[in-house]
Amino acid sequence: MDESRLPVQLFKWERSLNHKGWVKDLDFILAYCNMSECADLDVLCDLDVAEARLKYLNRDKWWVECHSKPKLRTYVQIHDKREIRSLVKHNLSRKHRSQVSRFKFRTLPLSLETGRYNDVEIEDRVCVLCASNSVETEEHFVLVCPNLEAVRKPHLQNMGLHGTIEGVDNIEKMKRMLGHENLKKFCIMLEEMLEELDLLDLRRVVFPNSDGPPYGSVLHTGVELINL
Ligand SMILES: [Zn+2]
Repeated sequence: MDESRLPVQLFKWERSLNHKGWVKDLDFILAYCNMSECADLDVLCDLDVAEARLKYLNRDKWWVECHSKPKLRTYVQIHDKREIRSLVKHNLSRKHRSQVSRFKFRTLPLSLETGRYNDVEIEDRVCVLCASNSVETEEHFVLVCPNLEAVRKPHLQNMGLHGTIEGVDNIEKMKRMLGHENLKKFCIMLEEMLEELDLLDLRRVVFPNSDGPPYGSVLHTGVELINL
């Protein structure tokens, strides 16, 4: 390395003062990349290698942190950490982008999420649409809840994901629904299911003593509301 270069001289001078500052930060980054030898200026630092190592290490760190975030539990179930996906690459409407993001990041108005506001224990955040006593997760909502089956069935059939498929569990089904091939179809299904959810919730409020299941189809619900 050319010792006469001003950055080299500044680096050595700053290091000799043993101050906390950019030189310490650089030492830390190089150690983090397992490239401490470069800090002695005897070995040239390959910036491409350093960048690749930093990206790799940070992706691992980010992935570990994701597992401790309740809102990202669905995301880590259905995504591969090595894969960076962007909904922007797909030709989706703003509404569909928003809904599918809310699905992935757990902000849909499902009991598992809304129960947090009232400090309800996780096991008590059950689905209010059916009598299964299951926690209303994203998985329950899009694949299991019997009162949404009428909306769900034709879409899953269209995606080739309806019913029991050998070797394909619900997590795998969600991965396939969010894959490139099915994403648009999934968005349309999700939009219809959220509309149905709104209507079923409304019906539950208007007819609190209504015998279930089921709360009824959208059409049935609409007719009853008109007759009020
Ligand atoms: Zn349910």
